[in-house]
Amino acid sequence: MQEQVPEHFLEFKKKIDKAKADFVAADERLCTLRNICPHTYIKKYNSAVCVLCGKNGGWWCPGSNNHLCWYINDGGKVNMDSCIYCGDPEERK
Ligand SMILES: [Zn+2]
Ligand SMILES: [Zn+2]
Repeated sequence: MQEQVPEHFLEFKKKIDKAKADFVAADERLCTLRNICPHTYIKKYNSAVCVLCGKNGGWWCPGSNNHLCWYINDGGKVNMDSCIYCGDPEERK
């Protein structure tokens, strides 16, 4: 069902619709870029934040190459209580 936009607001409505469409397109572009981002993490407080796209990667890890904590050991066993690089748990105060 089409909403009835008063005649004198039609141009304005068009601008709104265009802005909405632009927004969606920009959001999709941003999403695509984030998916291919070669995340490069820097330390922000205690978190690892990508300096390129702003993604928060979780805790800053001083021991791993990409500075993210990793809880899966070589055998594929998951242990959220101990990062294999720094030994800290996923849940922290
Ligand atoms: Zn990134
Ligand atoms: Zn760690």
